[in-house]
Amino acid sequence: MEKKQFKSESKRLMDLMINSIYTNKEIFLRELISNASDAIDKVYYKTLTDKDKTFNKDDYYIRIHPDKDNRTLTIEDTGIGMTEAELDDNLGTIAKSGSSDFKSEQEMEEDFDIIGQFGVGFYSAFMVADKVTVETKAVDSEQSYIWVSEGADGYTIEPGTRKTHGSKITLHLKENTEDNNYDDYLEPYRIRHLVEHYSNFIRYPIKMVVENSRIKEETKDSDNPEYETYLSDDVLNSMIPIWRKNKNELTDEDYNNFYHDKRLGFDAPLAHVHLSIEGAMSYKAILYIPGQAPFDYYTRDYEKGLELYSNGVLIMEKCSELLPDYFSFVKGVVDSEDISLNISREMLQQDRQLRLISRKIDSRISEELKKMQENDRETYEKFFKAFGNQIKVGTYDKWGQDKEKLQDFLLFYSSKEGKMVTLKEYVERMPEDQKYIYYATGSSVSQLEKLPQVSIIKDKDYEILYLTETIDEFVTQTLRQYGEKEFRSVSSQNLGLEAPEEDQKDDAEQTSEMDEKLLAKMKELIGDEVVKVKTTAHLKDDVAYLSTEGDLSIEMEMTLNTMPQG
Ligand code: ADP
Ligand code: MG
Repeated sequence: MEKKQFKSESKRLMDLMINSIYTNKEIFLRELISNASDAIDKVYYKTLTDKDKTFNKDDYYIRIHPDKDNRTLTIEDTGIGMTEAELDDNLGTIAKSGSSDFKSEQEMEEDFDIIGQFGVGFYSAFMVADKVTVETKAVDSEQSYIWVSEGADGYTIEPGTRKTHGSKITLHLKENTEDNNYDDYLEPYRIRHLVEHYSNFIRYPIKMVVENSRIKEETKDSDNPEYETYLSDDVLNSMIPIWRKNKNELTDEDYNNFYHDKRLGFDAPLAHVHLSIEGAMSYKAILYIPGQAPFDYYTRDYEKGLELYSNGVLIMEKCSELLPDYFSFVKGVVDSEDISLNISREMLQQDRQLRLISRKIDSRISEELKKMQENDRETYEKFFKAFGNQIKVGTYDKWGQDKEKLQDFLLFYSSKEGKMVTLKEYVERMPEDQKYIYYATGSSVSQLEKLPQVSIIKDKDYEILYLTETIDEFVTQTLRQYGEKEFRSVSSQNLGLEAPEEDQKDDAEQTSEMDEKLLAKMKELIGDEVVKVKTTAHLKDDVAYLSTEGDLSIEMEMTLNTMPQG
């Protein structure tokens, strides 16, 4: 039989799994259960949308069978199954959601955390098994197939005998070592615990085959009855989706577990919002503000969206209409009985109901962020560090239509506080004679502190915002002002400062004839690099500074000059 090779990333990941020293090997069970649940979701959805198929709730379940004699652990589902080609595609290559954009091999080996970060999915089975068998029959196909792999050197696929749709994954557990007792995963109490911990809210019953004993029927009435063992199924999970539960019954840990179970993220979320709305449009939602930006967040590959359920059935994994772009980092689920199962993409876009939900989500996330900013600044700064750039883009995106709403979420580094401040805080403590909100742009705070203009303004005891990100100035340019106060770059010609000397003459008037000649000579020497050389009354320790004629800072002019002209 032909042995097929894994695609190169898969092989690397597999090597990593096989040799894993990762202590949290137990997550393999969560991964396999979540795949099983996804597979049932898919077939369930099919039966609900296909008139020829009927649905019988009892037909859908996940079954775990620990077999101590053979040292195998089997996870079986009655889901959609896989065709031969799908087996090849799905188990021979890293799934896209599992990220094929891995770091270099070296980095991977050093960083075992990737298991936590990406949720490696199916391959995690190889952390505990040295041989994995998948027997599967796709729902629309007659023939079943068996996929077998004993590790990174490849896999085989051959026809099988399974008659019903679904998949059965058999793990042949590794030999025990000093550090790892793999037999542990065959203990019913251990499996029960793992399922309760990681997979409690899976919506289909997760059954475990357990051994029981009973008196043999025929010896029931005798004086020394004989016992026999028999197998039965125990349901291990509660099955009620967390969003249907009452907030008061749930702990932060429950919310965090759900976040991880659903693979919404692998970080620790900073906050969650649980919505339960009854009315013309009824729905429930759980939303998370993640603690870390996903690795692809600031790239084109990132897709925003929430999981959308219609009465408990997943109908869309990333419903983007539910989130405004500036909150694209929000993760979570929305479930509504009022949304039809057969909803198509085009229809969704226009769906008034979705807009209603989306507006609500927008306002609740705003509230949550405001609360965090006021009550837990440290967490808010973490949030801003991860997603602040998205908020900034939001203020100038779409011609700045959302700037009023978003400006209060911004944080900038302050010369006065030596930390991040809001515009509100800045403006509230402005001295009365200060006209503008001053900002300096450059690549680092230490560089900015050396600017002559900065010391002039600091001398006045005014506060300066240090803008070190290229996009910061797009923000100030779009906002133009906060409240009544305009933004002003420290490299602007007019800083709106009163001259430090007694005589309040304007700069030009102070220039004597003698100076005129000197300035003209300077201009001649510097040439076209500058437009004009003039004197100023503001300098103290420095001999000169650069300023611009318009509103833009020097950095901004340079950025714009390097951009392609359209
Ligand atoms: P992910 O679940 O993130 O897509 P996995 O590595 O866990 O990545 O799984 C890879 C793919 O293999 C899945 O996307 C799915 O198509 C397929 N698959 C895995 N397990 C099953 C299963 N029990 N039934 C059907 N398909 C499965
Ligand atoms: Mg998976």
